[in-house]
Amino acid sequence: MRKIIDNLYHVGDSGCSIFMVNSGTEGGLILIDCGMDIGLIQKTKNEGFKPRNIKHCFLTHCHIDHIAACSDLLAITPDVKFYAHELDADPIEKKGFDNKTAASWYGVKYQPIKLFKRIKEEVEEFSIGNYIFKSIHTPGHTPGSISIYVKLGDKGVLFGQDIHGPFMESFSSNLEDYQKSMQKLLNLNADILCEGHFGVFESAEKVRKYIKGYMESNR
Ligand SMILES: [Zn+2]
Repeated sequence: MRKIIDNLYHVGDSGCSIFMVNSGTEGGLILIDCGMDIGLIQKTKNEGFKPRNIKHCFLTHCHIDHIAACSDLLAITPDVKFYAHELDADPIEKKGFDNKTAASWYGVKYQPIKLFKRIKEEVEEFSIGNYIFKSIHTPGHTPGSISIYVKLGDKGVLFGQDIHGPFMESFSSNLEDYQKSMQKLLNLNADILCEGHFGVFESAEKVRKYIKGYMESNR
């Protein structure tokens, strides 16, 4: 686990990168994606956190590398609230979507979980502790992909998990939507980008360059 800035942590990588925000209040700990290995989340204990204090988990989309550990997370913190976009919700909540979650690709059995909230709006805000988490609908990689933006101190932090794609018919990917979505992310002018597979980018310029690079190669 690595501290990125105050109250923002890169928990580790299992399938995808898992990030955590500490609200420092009764809002508890907030995860962005769950990854595949609950052991990584358990290891936050070594840094003085209590995994049962994880109260919220934003799921950026329905792919197995981002959601496999959700049912294990529920077992350690039964009150955790999961959020995902409506258009990716069925594969997260129901059985029989192994193609959409890519569980069949990975050869993994997915245990569906119940969402606390199916996000429907283009932009939705969630006030947790002292922070406002903004969910932005960014379809492209999947129809229900979301990105999360939160201001931590004076830094605008963007969780843009699968900016790089890939784009596949079986995911119902859409490159036209993708271009529009990435423009929305550029408009945020984030200072820090926490990406799902390629690390953390820590300056507004690096964030912009990273997003633009993928926009250009996927035109
Ligand atoms: Zn994905």
